[in-house]
Amino acid sequence: MVAIVPDPVASKAASLRVRHVTKHFPATNGVGVAALALDDVSLSLAVGELVSVVGPSGCGKSTLLRLIAGLILPSAGELSIGAEPITSPGAERGLVFQDPNLFPWLTVRRNIEAGLVARGVLREKRAEVDEFMRVVGLETFADAYPHHLSGGMAQRVALARALINHPRVLLLDEPLGALDAFTRMRMQDEVLRLWQAHRTTMLLVTHDIDEAVYMSDRIIIMTQRPGKIDQNIPVDLNRPRDRSSSDFLRLRSNILELLHFAGAALARNKS
Ligand code: ADP
Repeated sequence: MVAIVPDPVASKAASLRVRHVTKHFPATNGVGVAALALDDVSLSLAVGELVSVVGPSGCGKSTLLRLIAGLILPSAGELSIGAEPITSPGAERGLVFQDPNLFPWLTVRRNIEAGLVARGVLREKRAEVDEFMRVVGLETFADAYPHHLSGGMAQRVALARALINHPRVLLLDEPLGALDAFTRMRMQDEVLRLWQAHRTTMLLVTHDIDEAVYMSDRIIIMTQRPGKIDQNIPVDLNRPRDRSSSDFLRLRSNILELLHFAGAALARNKS
């Protein structure tokens, strides 16, 4: 485990606001009714807050992240980061997916540098590449290629690649979903350590309730499609959290029950 000094750019973390956002997707093959993926979704994250979004599959969690990333536009409503409206992708919003999406023909170092090269800022940021490889514990793998890395290591490269841009908001779409249970728990601590050192605002989509309770300041539960915000649950547990404490287990079980009801409602609607 590598010790990190707090990052002076941490103060650049931003708040995030999603106001009355609705998203329709056109009907496949252009005929029929447009699909409503998100229905009047509003949420906000304070500067430096870590919030998880959970909900049944297909409820619009990834759609919400893609809207915040600026990869797609809302059908109605507004999104903003700090005071700035979101209208397109931007380096101030980092994205990490379940698949680390590394370039297989580039070394670890070149993968981390890729975004800096694209933005034409590699020369002034080169020292930070070394620092971020150290931050994620990969300095001895600088010249390794992705096929030499374990799943956890590849995901660390993806995190370093996102963090090196000092994102004001980091968007995490099931980033640990492909890892085995043990690696996943270690990586949860790793992400928390990075979050605490950099104080980036983080929005985490996860299917794993244990992960949401372990990591988040707050958990947002979405309804089945069309996705709406169902519950907003603060996690008032001291950090570092104990997964076996009675408070942890109680909250975990409450959330599972809420999701179970969301699933039951889905089954009723279908019948
Ligand atoms: P989740 O991440 O919660 O599993 P998604 O955001 O991926 O859900 O999808 C929400 C709904 O929107 C789903 O019904 C999905 O089929 C639909 N959807 C997502 N992206 C598209 C798209 N590009 N075109 C049409 N429908 C889409």
